[in-house]
Amino acid sequence: MENDDIRWIFSGGEKHVATLNLVPGNSVYGEKLVKQDSEEYRLWDPFRSKLAGALKKGLKNLPIKNGSKVLYLGASTGTTVSHVSDIVGNSGIVFAVEPATRVARELIENVASKRKNVVPVLEDARKPNSYFSVFGKVDVVYCDIAQPDQTDIAIANCNVYLKPRGIMLLVIKTRSIDVTMEPKAVIIQEAKKLEKAGFVIDQMLNLEPFDKDHGMIYCFFKP
Ligand code: SAM
Repeated sequence: MENDDIRWIFSGGEKHVATLNLVPGNSVYGEKLVKQDSEEYRLWDPFRSKLAGALKKGLKNLPIKNGSKVLYLGASTGTTVSHVSDIVGNSGIVFAVEPATRVARELIENVASKRKNVVPVLEDARKPNSYFSVFGKVDVVYCDIAQPDQTDIAIANCNVYLKPRGIMLLVIKTRSIDVTMEPKAVIIQEAKKLEKAGFVIDQMLNLEPFDKDHGMIYCFFKP
């Protein structure tokens, strides 16, 4: 996929996806910084970030763009959030929801304190009405929370915060839902739940070899 918001860079004999570093000189999780056309890019590791894995696996369209407003559920220490922050730039905003205090501390120290466009929200995504720092509707909801009821949680958040025709990227950890089912069958089952809730599925991806038993669904909200 070619897109103005990301770059494909050859380094060490391999093609990498990369984002323009919003905080030049700062590497968030040990990723390589590369100079190109007098700008600094951060190589985006598909084994550390499922969104980079999805781009490498052929995500047709990256809905996160310069200026986008994003609600990110399951921010963890901010590995993927930091690249999303690079992409949306200073005219965009990332509301990063993470309830686990240990990882949220790293998210704040390593990412949010250095990036004005990242707003940490230390809440449980099961309670979307308790995010007092999230204002207005968002363009994109990104959900990566590895919970058995992750699809229902994602839908509840979209009902509160996603604009009509907004886009959701849902990461499915198939083993969290049903260890006995084929991963592909779990992804199809979750896609059906989304369709029932008024979403239109645009693409379903398997994230192997970057993440075993993980998929991603790209869908539109109530078009
Ligand atoms: N998205 C991250 C990345 O790419 O850098 C990795 C996310 S990790 C697989 C899943 C995260 O979801 C964990 O940090 C976990 O604490 C968080 N999580 C689990 N249950 C949650 C919930 N109910 N609400 C919000 N986050 C939750």
